Amino acid sequence: MTQSAALDTLRSVFGYDQFRPQQAEIVEHLIAGGDALVLMPTGGGKSLCYQVPALVRAGTAVVVSPLIALMQDQVEALRQNGVSAAYLNSSLSAAAADEVEQQLMSGQLDLLYVAPERLLLPRTLALLERVHLSLFAIDEAHCVSQWGHDFRPEYHQLSLLQERFPRVPRIALTATADGPTQRDIMDRLQLHNGAVFNRGFDRPNIRYHIAENSGNAREQLLRFIRNDHDGDAGIVYCLSRKRVEEVAEWLSSKGMTALPYHAGLSAELRQHHQTRFLREDGVVMVATIAFGMGIDKPDVRFVAHLNLPKSIEAYYQETGRAGRDGMPANAWMAYGLQDVITLRQMQEGSAADESYKRIERHKLDSMLGLCEITSCRRQSLLHYFGESLEEPCGNCDNCLTPPQTWDATVASQKALSCVYRTGQRFGVTYLVDVLLGKNNDRIQQFGHDTISTFGIGKELNANQWRGLFRQLIARGLLTVDVEGHGSVRLAEVARPVLRGEETLMLRQLDSGRSKERKTRSKHETTHGELWHALRQCRRELAEEQGVPAYVIFHDATLAEMAERQPNSLDAMAGISGVGQRKLDAYGAQFLQVIAEHAATAAAPQAGASGLESVLLLCQGLTPMEIAHKRELTLATVYRHLAAAIADGELELADVVELSDTELHTLRFAFEQAEGGRLKPVYDELDGAYDYGVLECVRAWLNAAAVQ
Ligand code: ADP
Ligand code: ZN
Repeated sequence: MTQSAALDTLRSVFGYDQFRPQQAEIVEHLIAGGDALVLMPTGGGKSLCYQVPALVRAGTAVVVSPLIALMQDQVEALRQNGVSAAYLNSSLSAAAADEVEQQLMSGQLDLLYVAPERLLLPRTLALLERVHLSLFAIDEAHCVSQWGHDFRPEYHQLSLLQERFPRVPRIALTATADGPTQRDIMDRLQLHNGAVFNRGFDRPNIRYHIAENSGNAREQLLRFIRNDHDGDAGIVYCLSRKRVEEVAEWLSSKGMTALPYHAGLSAELRQHHQTRFLREDGVVMVATIAFGMGIDKPDVRFVAHLNLPKSIEAYYQETGRAGRDGMPANAWMAYGLQDVITLRQMQEGSAADESYKRIERHKLDSMLGLCEITSCRRQSLLHYFGESLEEPCGNCDNCLTPPQTWDATVASQKALSCVYRTGQRFGVTYLVDVLLGKNNDRIQQFGHDTISTFGIGKELNANQWRGLFRQLIARGLLTVDVEGHGSVRLAEVARPVLRGEETLMLRQLDSGRSKERKTRSKHETTHGELWHALRQCRRELAEEQGVPAYVIFHDATLAEMAERQPNSLDAMAGISGVGQRKLDAYGAQFLQVIAEHAATAAAPQAGASGLESVLLLCQGLTPMEIAHKRELTLATVYRHLAAAIADGELELADVVELSDTELHTLRFAFEQAEGGRLKPVYDELDGAYDYGVLECVRAWLNAAAVQ
């Protein structure tokens, strides 16, 4: 009975077909008057767990939320669905607060959001005692606990709710609570008679990808964004303020909307950038870890790390900001030798006591372990949080393109004994020079051109040696000096390897020359013209009303519209995320956009064959693979792709990955060549690039010139 009332509400108000796992049980439990503690990962759909009961049960639901900045958006999102909601916090004028209180007293509100300090005012409590309440929802409930990572003293007093309102059901929700924190929440909020619903930590829609920083992480990042996230919103985390500024500026110079965020900026500027990130489409926020707490934006499509986080908790929390809407999202990281050295030094050099350091060391080791493993990253992540995943996930880099391993025993012995023979006083750069037999002044001065390890490592290049040293440090075979000069020493655990008693199988090393693999995620199907038109329509509506775009419709909803292309209001009502109110308010307008698109798409496709090549490319095939599959010559395939570049349907980077220096050289060569002919360019560059590639570059240069 209640179940169907709940389902009715889910469908007619929120426009969703069915409950997600556990939502139905939680909703039912609450409607029946029970208390609950809900542990659900970010993006799991916690809000509906109390919003649906709030609508089904008589009276007003009070939602306690610590994040004042977000209340407005949450209330706005509810109003868009036709729900009567309001908030009370210090940002309201006295008159506005009065009005909300009036609405509350006259029973007009289904939901009331309040900040905890406001709720605990005697005046507010007295008001609440005079109205009919349906439930209390305590969001971000880990703030109750001193064990949680974001303790808030105001939350501590919420135990008072049970005493003052013993008959009103309470639901506490959080995405981050380990065992002790959970018990603390139960104690503080007196939820012992309630049910615990634990959905686990997994975020299946996030694809994990950890790349080796092959010397130019910035370029790797740019390629990643261009290949996978053109026009998407994302967060890029850097360690220092300086680096934040630098990367934001650089991405902007590449035509992206990239904004810096760090504690050194004025409060106004930070606020301004945050608002732009929340309200505009496709803003990339480049930030220190100061950014993120309380960022509730559902359509962050990627989180990138240009530095190594210092623990798996930090990594998981930061990457967790991607894909809250459940759509595919990427967590991407580039890390290298310097990261490992810096973090090791920071940790060893800290003034903390030994037992604290031991914990920190363990955390960093686990993080480094995650970077270097060759098996499923998600299994390893979940294992860290005490959960298990039976099968490899199929949605991380290691699952998708299993890394090669190699027997690194001999190479490691060379590296370790080079450390030993040079007296354990030198940094990696010097050691690599010795291994490669470089004859420089410094080496001669120390007489290291005469030791046995001089020049014994020519089978690997400098980049590969650096990678090997990184792995040895990551695995703890080498330690880094505390003074910060970067010299490395042998650890006890290196002995068995040196003595040949232990085999070391390591991740294949990056030569520094190999091209980045594409990490295309699944959602490029949404990146068609219709998708852009729908987003444009959404943007206009959002701007008109001064609300974030996702409050109008989520990405997932637009993607489904683009795919199913409804042609009537009835069909539109079947799209997930279109409830009755939004159907009435926006349905016709979006139908119009879809109809216009259908009309142009129906026109005969001149380049149908070309289109097929483009589609295959978008599915991740290389031009060579497309040529094989379609039994065409490679030249023909490149011609198709060049045409698509000329039409602005593809980016050059979609077809071929070229560094900035290469592009610069190519541009120059074309400028010198007469009439844009290919042959002079081909000759000038000694045939380094195929004609097909040159054709694409030319198309791209011409398209850029036209703009
Ligand atoms: P959380 O608070 O757990 O991070 P939200 O409550 O913000 O997550 O929900 C995440 C996203 O999932 C939102 O876009 C929400 O509309 C969507 N969602 C929640 N429940 C459902 C459902 N049953 N069907 C479809 N979408 C849902
Ligand atoms: Zn995996």
